[in-house]
Amino acid sequence: MVVIIGAGISGNTAARLLAEQGHHVTIIDKRSHIGGNCYDHWDDNGICVHDYGTHIFHTDNRQVWDFISRFTKWYPFQHKVRGLIDGQLVPIPFNLNSIHQVFPAKLAQRLEDKLLETFGYNIKVPILKLRETDDEDLRFLADYIYRNIFSFYTQKQWDLNPEDLDPAVTGRVPVYISKDNRYFQNRYQGIPLEGYTAIFEKMLDHPNITVRLKTKFEDIRHLINKTDGTGNLASDALKADAILYSGPIDEYYSYEFGELPYRSERFDFLTFDREYFQSEAVINYPNNYTFTRIGEYKHFLGTKSDRTVVSYEYPEPFIRGKNERYYPIVNDTNQALYSQYKAKAEAELEAAKANPENKIPVYFFGRLGDYKYYDMDKAIERAMALVEEVA
Ligand code: UDP
Repeated sequence: MVVIIGAGISGNTAARLLAEQGHHVTIIDKRSHIGGNCYDHWDDNGICVHDYGTHIFHTDNRQVWDFISRFTKWYPFQHKVRGLIDGQLVPIPFNLNSIHQVFPAKLAQRLEDKLLETFGYNIKVPILKLRETDDEDLRFLADYIYRNIFSFYTQKQWDLNPEDLDPAVTGRVPVYISKDNRYFQNRYQGIPLEGYTAIFEKMLDHPNITVRLKTKFEDIRHLINKTDGTGNLASDALKADAILYSGPIDEYYSYEFGELPYRSERFDFLTFDREYFQSEAVINYPNNYTFTRIGEYKHFLGTKSDRTVVSYEYPEPFIRGKNERYYPIVNDTNQALYSQYKAKAEAELEAAKANPENKIPVYFFGRLGDYKYYDMDKAIERAMALVEEVA
C-alpha cells in the first residue's frame, strides 16, 4: 500500500505505474480537481481552456511519450511563439528570421554571417553566453536581444535580472541560429485531443487506485498506520508501506529551515465575440505591459468557434494561502536552502529503510517535492524513475 501526495502529473504517473505493478495506491490532493496545474476544462464554446495557463507537451523521450500516449491521442500541434519587438511580431526564440524582421537588410545579413561563422547553423546559444562575445556586431546583437527579449520579461516573470537566475532558466529560450520558428524542436510534440484532464482521469481509472480530493496531507497524516490500543491497525487507519510526496518539501518539514520561494501567476481569462484574437496560440510581450504573454486556446486544437478565449498572464510572488505555487525560483541561494531539506529527507529515508518495522519511507518528487523547474515530460520521467526505485 502506497500513499501519494498530490494528484498532479507527477503523482498521477507514479500512481498508475505502481497500480499496474500490483500496489494499492491512495492518492490525495488538497484541491477539488485532479491534474494539478495541468488541469483544463471544456468551456461553453467547445474550447479547451488550460486553467493554469498554456501547456504544450513536448519530449524527446520515447518511453515518456509512449506512456502518456496510452491515455490520449494527439493533435499534432507545433508550438510557435511570437513576441512584440519594436512594433513587430517576431519569432521567439529569437532566430535568423527574427533578425531579418527587425534589422535593415544589410545589417541583418552581416549578423547572420557572423553568427554562422562563429557558431554554425542549427545551434542554440543562450543569451548570457552570446553576451560574452568579443565581436562588436555580435555584441550589439546580444545586447539588443538581451534588452528586448529577456530583460523586462524576466523582471516581470521572476522579479530578478537574468544574471540572478540559474542560467538554465533563460537558457530554456536560447537564441536559435536557424530558420525554424518553433518554440520546441522535440521529436514528439502535441496537445491531447480530449485535453489534459481526460488523460489524468484515464490514468487514475484503475482498480488499485483510490483518489481523495479536497484532502490535505495534514488531514490524513495521523491516520497513516494508526494503531488502536492493542497495537493493531485502527479501523480508520490508512495503511502505507511508503509515502510518495509531490507536495512542497518545505511545507512537509513545517518550514523549519525557511520557506522555499516560488513565483505564482494570475490569469485574466477573457472571451471575445470574434473568431480569433491573435495570430498564434501564444504572443509574448517582453517590453510592454505588466502581463508577460497572452494565450489563445482555440489554436491548440484548431477548434472552430465564433467566439474565442484568451488568458493574460500576470506573474506575481507566491504567497501562502493566497495563490498557488507555479515556478521554483532557481538560483544559488534557494538551491542552498533546498539542499538542507533534501539532506534531511535523505537521512530520514535511510533511517526508514534501516528500520522498516517502525518507520515509513518518504520519497519526494515533482516540481514541489524536488524544487525543480520540470517540464511535463521531465516530471513524468522523474516519476517513472522513482517508481523503479520504490517498487
Ligand atoms: N524569457 C524571456 N523572454 C521571452 C521568453 C522567455 O525573458 O520572451 C525568459 C524568462 O526569464 C522566462 C524564461 O526565459 O521565465 C523561460 O521561458 P519559458 O517560456 O520556457 O517559460 P515557461 O513557459 O516555463 O513559463
